[in-house]
Amino acid sequence: MANNESDEKVKSVDKQNLLNLLKIKSKEELEAGRRLFSSNVSFIAGSVKMGSLPIEGVPEIAFAGRSNVGKSSLINSITNRKTLARTSQNPGRTQQINFFEFENKELRLVDFPGFGYAKASKKSIEKWTRLIHSYLRYRTALKRVLLLIDSRRGISPLDEETMKVLDKSAVSYQIILTKIDKLKIKELEELIVRTETNCIKHPAAHPSFHLTSSLKGIGIQELKAEIASLLTSHVQN
Ligand code: GDP
Repeated sequence: MANNESDEKVKSVDKQNLLNLLKIKSKEELEAGRRLFSSNVSFIAGSVKMGSLPIEGVPEIAFAGRSNVGKSSLINSITNRKTLARTSQNPGRTQQINFFEFENKELRLVDFPGFGYAKASKKSIEKWTRLIHSYLRYRTALKRVLLLIDSRRGISPLDEETMKVLDKSAVSYQIILTKIDKLKIKELEELIVRTETNCIKHPAAHPSFHLTSSLKGIGIQELKAEIASLLTSHVQN
């Protein structure tokens, strides 16, 4: 039996320690996040090509990541909905970009197609890349891409490919480490160092990243606060 603190799972980490890792947000920032996400959110469009994207006018934050990374769970968590990210997904059309709009028109969440599914990979990555490339290049409403990385895997070669696409498009993006409840403290600390080292190599990657667990509700309020701050700081791509 492991009694060593570093062998404990993240859910039982010392609270202050965890808050430090999560990059503490002020009360005001947390409140801005809470307020923003208190608006109703609904699915407004699923686009398979540039011509069918909804008209711009509302700031957009995009979520990207490989299949099974926990993207739907995270979108559902921050919007406090159980099935928002899934209900819009038609199994036959996995290559679509899904748009969710806040009723108050302050924000749209953009759900990129999950990439890297089994053997369909090369062709589907090419298709994904073409659609996303165009979106990234021409979408002026896009404030930031959140690139979700499964904590247990860290940044994989497939994620590296995506980071290169984002670098080339000169779109500001930020890493979100998902499912941190699955890691031991020591593993999490090592992952943080590896991720920091990797981000430095990518010109468009934001130097700080987020730790989240949709399952345990870790880092959710902080992520909302971060997204709210992007809307007020007029971050440019
Ligand atoms: P998506 O394919 O990226 O949309 O991933 P999903 O949100 O559907 O999640 C994939 C799997 O990971 C599901 O079995 C989820 O229950 C699980 N999962 C998602 N988020 C978490 C998390 O924070 N912690 C843990 N332990 N499992 C999670």
